[in-house]
Amino acid sequence: MIAQVIVDVLNSNVDKVFDYKVPDDLSLEAGCRVVVPFGKRVVEGFVINIKDFSTVPNDKLKFITRKIEDSALILPELISLMHFMTERYNIKLVDALRLFIPSELRTGKIKPLKKIMCILNENLDLNAYEMSLRKNSLKQQALLQYMKVKKSEQQSVLNQMFSAGAVNKFKKDGLFLIDEVEERRRPEEMLIIDKQITLTAEQERAIKQIENFENKTFLLHGVTGSGKTEVYMNLIEKAVLDGKTAIMLVPEISLTPQVLGNFKARLGATVALLHSGLSAGERFDEWRRLLLGEAKVVVGARSAIFAPLKNIGIIVIDEEHESTYNSESNPRYKTHEIAKFRMEYNKCPLILGSATPSIKSYFDAVNNKSTLLEMPVRTNKKEMPKIQIIDMMQEIRAGNGSMFSRQLVNDLYECLNNNEQALLFLNRRGYTSFMRCRECGYVAKCTDCDVSLVYHKAEEKLKCHYCGKRFKALTVCPQCNSSYIRQGAIGTQKVVDEIKIIFPQVKVFRMDNDTTRNKNAYQKILEEFSKNKPAILVGTQMIAKGHDFDAVTLVGIIDADQSLYQSDFQSTEKTFQLITQVSGRAGRKDSIGKIVLQTYNPRHYVYKFSANYNYKGFYEKEINIREVTNFPPFSSIVRILITDEKEEVVRETTIEIFSKLGELKQKYAENFYYCEAMKSPHSRIKNKIRYQILLRFTKIKECDILKEIYEIINQYKNLKASIFVEINPMNLS
Ligand code: ADP
Ligand code: ZN
Ligand code: ZN
Repeated sequence: MIAQVIVDVLNSNVDKVFDYKVPDDLSLEAGCRVVVPFGKRVVEGFVINIKDFSTVPNDKLKFITRKIEDSALILPELISLMHFMTERYNIKLVDALRLFIPSELRTGKIKPLKKIMCILNENLDLNAYEMSLRKNSLKQQALLQYMKVKKSEQQSVLNQMFSAGAVNKFKKDGLFLIDEVEERRRPEEMLIIDKQITLTAEQERAIKQIENFENKTFLLHGVTGSGKTEVYMNLIEKAVLDGKTAIMLVPEISLTPQVLGNFKARLGATVALLHSGLSAGERFDEWRRLLLGEAKVVVGARSAIFAPLKNIGIIVIDEEHESTYNSESNPRYKTHEIAKFRMEYNKCPLILGSATPSIKSYFDAVNNKSTLLEMPVRTNKKEMPKIQIIDMMQEIRAGNGSMFSRQLVNDLYECLNNNEQALLFLNRRGYTSFMRCRECGYVAKCTDCDVSLVYHKAEEKLKCHYCGKRFKALTVCPQCNSSYIRQGAIGTQKVVDEIKIIFPQVKVFRMDNDTTRNKNAYQKILEEFSKNKPAILVGTQMIAKGHDFDAVTLVGIIDADQSLYQSDFQSTEKTFQLITQVSGRAGRKDSIGKIVLQTYNPRHYVYKFSANYNYKGFYEKEINIREVTNFPPFSSIVRILITDEKEEVVRETTIEIFSKLGELKQKYAENFYYCEAMKSPHSRIKNKIRYQILLRFTKIKECDILKEIYEIINQYKNLKASIFVEINPMNLS
């Protein structure tokens, strides 16, 4: 028998698949981790296939040395998925493989935790032994008395209570027998009591429709508070009762202890959690619980889609429109496509849930590629809060040059006077508070990365968000020596400073990337805020989702246009989603709530539709524009990113690939809209020069064109520069 082995998964960035002979006494299956001889070294590898013959002559083949674990670590399904991913995204086998196993396992840094138990050996004559102990060895005496009662105890506990010396003596004398048991490191949980809920008619209908289907995608379009989570939990519970497993994905940011606690309360120990808040040991053990079948349901962020679960009964992607479901660094993949692969493999339903589905997902539903399920009513029957649009140009004309409109200030007065809470939301998608000279236009940039530095007022520092480099904040312009060098755009800190001038007595909290860097900081700020009334919370995207603010009755959107002028075809869609999401934060409990939306562009259609919560109207307008302008879902956009430390190498490779693509463009002339090569907007990151080629072509023949693009790229791959491909990227920076 011959095993195909990917070797050196840990160190190598090159796919090395080699044939090895399997010793007769070794039972081996695909997915096993093995040790193999490789040149003069021995290395680790993963078996990806077992076959009868090799094209390599028998005397050239070496034997597999041994397997590391008894059973396979990678399921057959995931090995198929690995092949699907390399074909679809042109990534390496090793890069896909690494997604399926925790990095802790690959590096060997974390091992299953073994608890060492000391067990009293009662076959010995304990009285005789006691007599033999020295009278003044009090610790040994005490240890023996303790164990006579307890019979067995963890060694580390005994070491602490008595002394390691005493414990070791008893071990040496054979009085203690030793047993090792595997112990699971479990993430901390929140105590939540499961509520008994009677399903609404809409929830019942959705559940009925979904559970009767296998191998089908459903788009669950339900307004904020319509009870989508209850639908997911119900279906997952049914799958588990049916002997199946389930995957539940949520965006990283909504993985709050509250949300996790709800799932735990309902489904108990069958739930494993996978998210970035876990310690390495916890993540490793949660993964093992899934692999060994101790846990049946995984609740986690994007990468939980690769969970080692067999016989999946349902897959859920909640908040499916979130851009975090796209991996934007190597290996680049789209979670929806992976989920679809696993849905087909397991013949189970896939649910995409959202209050504001992505244009692409809604388009698929409209075109019968998936089934649309609507839940238009909140479970508490309450109306969505009213959104008032404020024209900021008019404010300026009326002599108000501040960042707060008169309406917002009035509403804040009222809200705070009533002892209620307000959120001020600052949309900072792809937007930085840079430092700029008002005299000569100089902008402070990172010397390594060529991107604008971000001004951090608290530390009086300029920081590069790509490489972390720090610089002293400028007081004079290095170019013209003017002292008119200022912060160029509004940041959350600026909003906090200004609001404190207007409302000096009110508690103001801030939540953004800077204030939530430490573990648990996010939760702490929320807790503090919820305890204070009246209070204002100023924040970015982070406050838009995931958490219920019960006492918030007013939301101010400071500058709604921020995300509208991104050089990104999805910026309008993102703006609609954000407004809807932020609005959902007001008036969750008793009062209705109000939203004040400030814009310099009040006639833009995105505001008209979002102010009325008219998703359908927005979709129709937007899909129309996409069709006329040939943007996805009517076309495919492909970005080829070429990077290296040497600019000549990058430029040369780009030019060569670009000229080859020119031939492709001629071959498919009627399908191509454009093909351009350029420096990336962030043309240098961590000392690597970045160039890109952007292509846009019709959906027709997408597969053929992609295949040929990959063929061209692979002639250059691993030769000089690194080359990455993205299909319909969210972000072109
Ligand atoms: P969504 O995820 O659609 O925004 P949630 O699932 O968070 O909505 O539900 C909103 C609130 O409604 C939650 O507090 C939930 O406990 C409650 N809820 C859900 N279903 C019902 C029901 N059938 N009856 C009463 N309350 C419900
Ligand atoms: Zn200057
Ligand atoms: Zn930098």
